[in-house]
Amino acid sequence: MKFEGKKVIVTGGSRGIGRSIVESFAREGAEVAFVYHSNEKAAQDVISVLAAEGFDKITAHQCDVSKKDQVDELVEKLVEQWGRIDILVNNAGIVKDGLLATMDEEAWSSVISTNLDSVFYFCRAVTRPMMSQRSGRVINMSSVAAEFPNSGQANYAASKGGIQGLTRCMATELGRRGVTVNAVAPGFVETDMTEAVRNAAESQIKKQIPCRRLGKPEDISQAVLFFASDEAGYVTGQILAVDGGLTLGGI
Ligand code: NAP
Repeated sequence: MKFEGKKVIVTGGSRGIGRSIVESFAREGAEVAFVYHSNEKAAQDVISVLAAEGFDKITAHQCDVSKKDQVDELVEKLVEQWGRIDILVNNAGIVKDGLLATMDEEAWSSVISTNLDSVFYFCRAVTRPMMSQRSGRVINMSSVAAEFPNSGQANYAASKGGIQGLTRCMATELGRRGVTVNAVAPGFVETDMTEAVRNAAESQIKKQIPCRRLGKPEDISQAVLFFASDEAGYVTGQILAVDGGLTLGGI
């Protein structure tokens, strides 16, 4: 198995894309600690499904990724338990859409803190152990909205654009220590996050995608596993769009 014995942290691992990332690492032999926020039932379901397949080294951790103290405490606990962190996937994210003219501070700051501050907190917390190991993989979840935002997503687009800058800068700082840092930018993926927009306009959206289908969580998790692999050791600071061609600009 490709990730046998690797110690992996995945944020937002209880549903959607994150769940698929957790399952993919588990099925490749990794030991995974994943983070959820409030839906404990969904988190337990991931554990049960994987345990039934014989993967019993998967643990769920309740933690609000926007809270520095909770992040530091969790990473410290895992470093103590594992002695190292091989792979970090910053996947947790939320949307609170609304036009800028009427967007309140809560919608702005909750999206920025959950989507972007969280990435800073987790990246900073794993930097020391990864630097002293002289190896590590960090994969951040951006979005095509960073470069091609829909109207009503100023907060979300800003958070995902911030992730891309952070990813590139961290890659320049940590390359010499054997740590790579990359980001995946999904297009429209079939998860709870996109349910409302899919219900309203799925067929319209598909017409704009050269592959003529929405993404599945597995499409994204396989890109994450590539960046996390030993074979990707010379790839760093990259943003990979996984969007069925949505951002190519043609129809
Ligand atoms: P999702 O189905 O809504 O799942 C979100 C996950 O993040 C859940 O596990 C949730 O845990 C967790 N989470 C949310 N807030 C958190 C917090 N404060 N602390 C800890 N965990 C928190 O989302 P998704 O569609 O899979 O999206 C995953 C990532 O991909 C996000 O960063 C999103 O921006 C990005 N993305 C998604 C799409 C898409 O089309 N779906 C497109 C581009 C980018 P609880 O359930 O416990 O709250």
